[in-house]
Amino acid sequence: MARKKIIAGNWKMNMTPSQAVALVNELKPLVETEEADVVFCVPAIDIIPAMEAAKGSNIVIGAENMYYEEKGAYTGEIAPDMLTDAGVKYVIIGHSERREYFKETDEDVNKKVLKAFEHDITPIICCGETLAQREQGVTMDFVRMQIKIAFQNVTADQAKTAVIAYEPIWAIGTGKTATTEQAQEVCAGIRACIGEIYDDATAQAIRIQYGGSVNPATAPELFAQPDIDGGLVGGASLKPDFGKIVNWK
Ligand code: PEP
Repeated sequence: MARKKIIAGNWKMNMTPSQAVALVNELKPLVETEEADVVFCVPAIDIIPAMEAAKGSNIVIGAENMYYEEKGAYTGEIAPDMLTDAGVKYVIIGHSERREYFKETDEDVNKKVLKAFEHDITPIICCGETLAQREQGVTMDFVRMQIKIAFQNVTADQAKTAVIAYEPIWAIGTGKTATTEQAQEVCAGIRACIGEIYDDATAQAIRIQYGGSVNPATAPELFAQPDIDGGLVGGASLKPDFGKIVNWK
């Protein structure tokens, strides 16, 4: 079964609401394509203005984070209902920056993934190793553990619709893209892991992105790999370069 590519921008903590509108308007004509789902994951305060600006285009607005509780005394957090009420369809879960700076654990990631599915929001579930882990040769063991915990109690039907972003931490924001072989090898390993947890049909349906300094030069080869179904793009998603990545062919 052919999987449609999904290319998502992660704006991180960039863009005020007015800057967000200007950026969506600038990128709108550059990201038109039938070949991929195009998602802009933006700061919570930018979601509504970005969505307004994106109307009539192929851009889908997503969120960068979400809490796993429904509502209440969790100052500063964003509830799933807040996202769905705004029309959000995708949310990044467990980005390495959330894990590192905000101490999100694999168990938190799992709770958020379950909550996202409960609210019909597609999670973009991030995983990936540190440079030290890669050098120690434990990349696949580590990533498999992240995946197994993230998918606990997730049904096969839900898993089929999920997106996984394999993002080696050493490649994020560093300008060091993993080699095509490294990226394909781990994405294939993740697909095999999903096959072990569920079945082959689920493994073949799930979309797996590569993320880590993707740019217009590296995207074509990365996206041509059999197990890489698109990219999660940080820095380059804030520039016209994103249009070139989205139109990689
Ligand atoms: C990211 O933020 O998920 C990311 C991959 O960033 P960059 O493309 O800047 O490395």
